[in-house]
Amino acid sequence: MLALHHITKRYKDKTALDNVSLELDCGIYGLLGPNGAGKSTLMNIITGNIRPTEGEVWWENTDIRDMGERFRSLLGYAPQQQELYNSFSGRRFLSYMAALKGIPKKEVGDEIERVLSYVNMQEAADRAIGGYSGGMKQRILIAQAILGNPKLIVLDEPTAGLDPKERVRVREQIRELAGDTIILVSTHVVSDIAPIAKEILLIRSGSIIDRDTVEALCRKYGESRDLEEVYMHIFGEEERHVETDSL
Ligand code: ADP
Ligand code: MG
Repeated sequence: MLALHHITKRYKDKTALDNVSLELDCGIYGLLGPNGAGKSTLMNIITGNIRPTEGEVWWENTDIRDMGERFRSLLGYAPQQQELYNSFSGRRFLSYMAALKGIPKKEVGDEIERVLSYVNMQEAADRAIGGYSGGMKQRILIAQAILGNPKLIVLDEPTAGLDPKERVRVREQIRELAGDTIILVSTHVVSDIAPIAKEILLIRSGSIIDRDTVEALCRKYGESRDLEEVYMHIFGEEERHVETDSL
């Protein structure tokens, strides 16, 4: 359904993505790798926000560059940074995003109620986003990503900066999204994604180094007990250089 063909992204002397080819059908996929691996770059290319240096992204049988509005209407995207409109209320932010997505005016009211109740944010909907906790901000970001029932949902580090309880809550909300949809979730925290992912895509230095089910990855990498061990086995050295998880 979604296919990446030989995607490369270069920034001057830096290769952020190196010849990535990938096909995804319905289900939840975890894009797992340390900071700087290329997760956000890959997501920005899939969502059409940045252009690859080389390669193409196809939806069904069409290059997304030829789809224009039609691609936007089937896409839900929650970017990594929480650059939300702090003075907006949650509801106003959602109605602004619904307008950008081209959701018909007469459907907007019901649709906003639907996504608010989905992320359990009805009560806070009329308060300013600036006063939300980190978890509430992430939930409003997820709510806008699922406006209009998108077929492709891309969530860039939806659990970044959350406390353990909030992480589990967001994870379980993502689990409930599964259905007739492709859901791609990036993280560098194994426990945020391992319990809900159909497959894990391991990304390192701009390459997808492996993709498989959690069980298969554990078998492949030396009979590891869990994916956390696999992750430390592959990325341990890199992760030790990363001090914070907010990047
Ligand atoms: P991740 O999301 O996995 O942390 P990114 O996709 O943000 O990784 O970054 C991948 C690599 O590309 C990093 O080395 C980063 O420094 C580099 N990079 C990302 N965006 C830019 C940019 N606009 N200009 C130059 N280098 C960039
Ligand atoms: Mg990132």
